[in-house]
Amino acid sequence: MSSVDEFIAFLRRVAEKWSARYERDRVFDADPAEGVPKYFVTAAYMYPNGPIHVGHGRTYLVADVIARFKRLLGYNVLFPMGFHYTGTPVLVRAEAIAEGRVKEVESMSSTFNVDVETLRKLGDPVAFARYFHELSKEVMKLYGLSIDWRREFTTIDPEYKSFIRWQFTKLLKLGLLVKGTHPVGWCPRHGMPVGMHDTEGDVEPEIGELTLIKFRDREGRVYPVATLRPETVFGVTNVWVNPEAEYCLAEVDGEVWVVSCIAAEKLSYQLRKPSVLRRIFGRELVGVRLVNPATNEEVPVLPASFVNPRFGTGVVMSVPAHAPYDYVALRDYVDRELGGAWPQELLPRPLITVPGYGEVPARDVVEQLGVRSQSDVGLLEEATKRVYRDEFERGVVREDAARYLARQSKAVVEFFAKYIAGRSVKEARESSKELLRSLGAYDSMYEVVNSPVYCRCGTEIVVKVLEEQWFIDYGNPRWKELAREALKSMEVVPEEARNGIEATIDWLRERACARTRGLGTELPWAPGWVIEALSDSTIYMAFYTVIHRVRSLGLPAEKLGEEFWDYVFLGSGSASELAEKLGVRVEDLEAIRREFLYWYPLDSRHSGKDLIPNHLTFFIFNHVAIFPRELWPRRIVANGWVLVEGAKMSKSKGNVKLLKNLIEAYSPDALRLGLVLGAEVDQDLDLREDVVLSAVRQLARVYEVIRRVWAESEDVDLGVADEWLRGTLKQHVASYVEEVERVRLRSAAIRVYFKMLEDLETYLKWAGKAGRAAREYVAMWVRMMSPFTPFLAEELWESLGYGGYVAKSVLPRELYEERDVVFDVEQKYLELVINDVRSVLEVTKGDVVVLYTASRDLTELVRRVAEMVSLGRELKDLIRTLREEAVRAGISDVLRALKSVHEAVVYITPAALLNYIERRGYLDEYEVLAKYRGLLEVKLGVKEVKVYRASDPDAPDYGGRKRRALPLRPGIYVASSL
Ligand SMILES: [Zn+2]
Repeated sequence: MSSVDEFIAFLRRVAEKWSARYERDRVFDADPAEGVPKYFVTAAYMYPNGPIHVGHGRTYLVADVIARFKRLLGYNVLFPMGFHYTGTPVLVRAEAIAEGRVKEVESMSSTFNVDVETLRKLGDPVAFARYFHELSKEVMKLYGLSIDWRREFTTIDPEYKSFIRWQFTKLLKLGLLVKGTHPVGWCPRHGMPVGMHDTEGDVEPEIGELTLIKFRDREGRVYPVATLRPETVFGVTNVWVNPEAEYCLAEVDGEVWVVSCIAAEKLSYQLRKPSVLRRIFGRELVGVRLVNPATNEEVPVLPASFVNPRFGTGVVMSVPAHAPYDYVALRDYVDRELGGAWPQELLPRPLITVPGYGEVPARDVVEQLGVRSQSDVGLLEEATKRVYRDEFERGVVREDAARYLARQSKAVVEFFAKYIAGRSVKEARESSKELLRSLGAYDSMYEVVNSPVYCRCGTEIVVKVLEEQWFIDYGNPRWKELAREALKSMEVVPEEARNGIEATIDWLRERACARTRGLGTELPWAPGWVIEALSDSTIYMAFYTVIHRVRSLGLPAEKLGEEFWDYVFLGSGSASELAEKLGVRVEDLEAIRREFLYWYPLDSRHSGKDLIPNHLTFFIFNHVAIFPRELWPRRIVANGWVLVEGAKMSKSKGNVKLLKNLIEAYSPDALRLGLVLGAEVDQDLDLREDVVLSAVRQLARVYEVIRRVWAESEDVDLGVADEWLRGTLKQHVASYVEEVERVRLRSAAIRVYFKMLEDLETYLKWAGKAGRAAREYVAMWVRMMSPFTPFLAEELWESLGYGGYVAKSVLPRELYEERDVVFDVEQKYLELVINDVRSVLEVTKGDVVVLYTASRDLTELVRRVAEMVSLGRELKDLIRTLREEAVRAGISDVLRALKSVHEAVVYITPAALLNYIERRGYLDEYEVLAKYRGLLEVKLGVKEVKVYRASDPDAPDYGGRKRRALPLRPGIYVASSL
């Protein structure tokens, strides 16, 4: 058995011991404490539709590190957890079991590491959720999450349901919950709306509106071409159909429409009632001549394989001058059918000018990218993106395009000249729609623009126009304004995520908030409609603050009506009247209200970045709707994905890493440290075994050193070495606090487990033994570890002889509240000298290093440079100004002096340097180097360091290095012996 395995086994035993004690002593139960500052942190609760995996594990770890860190700073911290039973994520899996779908059950069995026999008993969604809820909860405890479990709940608990009914009644009264007719993503098989958490791969179906332009054949049949760019209708040369696809002649609103049969079905979900008259193949339509309503000209129907019958109507207008797909398909057609001779009628019709392109932008891009045929899909997508974007942003409709209107009425020609020609594409788009409408040629349909998106049942999502249904009106402009305001006042980590939330606030419209299936809370006034998962999870953080007290009242949930929650969360109504009505003590009621006000607002909200376009934004919206400004949330932290060996985790890939298995393999502490060291929170994290194993090895080293220091240290002061170790500790604590506050957890962990170990080892070598400062260092160090590797920290804490829990210990404020400027500048200066000496040692090997410090009268130069740099002056400018001063000061090599002094000042930072000079008069380099001679010897790995003042006439001048001494850059001489 290797030592790594042994240490992992040790870490596992330690974790079991301390997680049991945490539970026994209820260490993380948090109650309000008047006068003690509070910190309230939550992470998005999980769907128990399987066991907790490492994706959850990462988010929860970040929240837990923050919670534990804030306790170290003396905050009273609440970190609670619940379980989200609502909706389809749980339901579809239980259904698969109930329906005996063997393959799916077997796949669950292997992914979830649960035997088939056990799964077979979980066909009921509540039983299913309960099972994985309990399983996951046990894992969370062993993982070391510092949760107050008294406040745990599920979203089907009666108290929770009454709370959600209250929230929705509020939204209704505020006019933010509306009944209306709106398009939604829809599963035809399930007959219900679907959002992100109902789809395979968690994709939000994005709904867009396509313009339909009615082209007509000689019999008056309508060919509604679907487009996002109606202004290009003037440049149409032909209409495309897919020759292999099935088309339907269908009666729609009293007209006969020719559309793909799939489109006919889709239209039936959008308040149309198409009745199919006849089915034909697309190839039978080729050659039909259609009238373009915009130009009143005839164009032919031609075949093209790129036309997707599943998108829009399956009928597409061809604008070869401005659409790369059309240009290439037409070129293919002309080459194949007409031997390359391009007929007049099909020549591209330039319609839009855009800077940087010729007459036919589509051709330019196609030739630039070297698109060979319409099957070069990748290149064509790129070409299309470019042309569409450039034309939309910078395109203008050509004045001479009026020539395409030779067969149009005078009214249309005039309209074109006035509102379309010479206008930007943006303006022309709206005017073109208006024109088409007036010509009776305009219609529209909804489409899933990021199609195909599939329901969890495997059915492709369509757009349904849902009539008389309940929507949350995220399109309300005043509500949007408040949400933006809240976002502005919040901290967002990483800062880039702010844009994603802002964009979501902008595009969000009415959102269907109820489903006909799944667990959850019914809309109080619409029986049969259950509030869906992303709508019943927006303000539940408030619920955590009071649920344990609400339960202790022992009231049946029916009694927890509107008045109750109004009082608890909004403070409205009279406590005594309410108490009397409910038959409870008024003190108990008031305590509930007080506890909510103690914990709220929420200080930090954690989730994966996938929840930015939905949950995190809904969370802001609903808070600003329900709660007063002073209770709006303060921070959002959105972490990156967990990748497994470079790939995204998914059930279908079979690479889902269960937290339980990882904990068993590596121990909770090593896994936690591995996850933190793997990537900063904003980055995606590639979970690699070697990183976790190196975390194990590092933990073993740290453990050994601490045990040794504690056993061998003496209660004596070791002078400058102790002084240095104390100063270094203070630096580490201050930087650590800063890093964790900014959620730079990886940097903080590198500091704690690597840099701090290195510094302690340097001290031990230098001092030759461990003095009093070493004990102080270790005592703080173990505290600093506790947020990352809590169990090992507890074990050490106990073995050092401290009572209680390190999780309840506090870092003394004086260690991080104020920096020690003198110490910091001197250490920076030493670093600089060490770097300089090291580069000399690379060239000249030797065991003795001699340093000559510059004379006192040169030190004024340091101050001048620092002042000028802090004023933003650049080196060149500085040289010009200071040259004379330097010459006067007797520095022969002026340029070199200024350049290297400048470098040094920037390295130390000018502000700190000026501060130092103000306190000390000047930086006496000789004093500093002489003081830390021993440290330099250890860090440089040499036998001896000698320090002289260059101005000392008695000092020997080895290698003529005396005169090389510049301010902040001592002259350096290296020899094997002297
Ligand atoms: Zn479905």
